[in-house]
Amino acid sequence: MMKQIEEVARLILSSKRLVVFGGAGLSTESGIPDFRSPGGVWDKYDPEDFYYQNFIASEASRKKYWEMATEMYGPIKKAQPNPAHLAIAELEKLGRLDCVITQNIDGLHHKAGNSEERIIELHGTATYVACLNCKKRYDRDEVQERLRKEMKVPYCDDCGGPLKPATISFGQSMPERETEEAYHRSSICDLFIVIGSSLVVQPAASMPLVAKRNGAKLVIINRDPTPYDDLADMVIHAQAGLTMANILKCVKQGL
Ligand SMILES: [Zn+2]
Repeated sequence: MMKQIEEVARLILSSKRLVVFGGAGLSTESGIPDFRSPGGVWDKYDPEDFYYQNFIASEASRKKYWEMATEMYGPIKKAQPNPAHLAIAELEKLGRLDCVITQNIDGLHHKAGNSEERIIELHGTATYVACLNCKKRYDRDEVQERLRKEMKVPYCDDCGGPLKPATISFGQSMPERETEEAYHRSSICDLFIVIGSSLVVQPAASMPLVAKRNGAKLVIINRDPTPYDDLADMVIHAQAGLTMANILKCVKQGL
């Protein structure tokens, strides 16, 4: 394992454009449950109830959605960046990171100190709320406080439109700008490191392929095997936190 970690550090040191791609496994060590895993929130709620079209169509759906969203927000609000997030933030400080593309909605890369323009959130973020009509943004905590006082669907103060966390829901299209940017960065990087993603959700899962096809080296750090392990230049089956902390240590020693 140590040899693999040193090899990844060497790849980082010789890279000119590093893209990190993060999935749920990057945040589990911060106490964020993988919402897709067994025992996750979808065992308790029916995903059908949370389709975007239903949210738009009915007040009853919006109410159910906000109940679930409130439950999911608890661990997100409490969560702190773990050593993997901190290592990625440190790589940026060292001038070694082009960007981090994330499937997570927890805002932990922001909390860890990565700068806004280097974070691409493919599935949006739970850290703020937006009006679906006029796009006005609201602080998530402020909206949760409204809900705590009165469990009622929140609407926009300005235009009366429905408010929804700025995450991408089932049935909602991927954010155009972020998706395009993510593909672009993937296609021009020379090193693509996947951390904590099983690489099965599209379109995110095709990004390592785009990178690889354009000549980048591919590293996969994930607890479980992924469909792209055979394609990767280096695969480490381990938890993200300790692995990234060790890689960072080697990178710093090599500087
Ligand atoms: Zn509005």
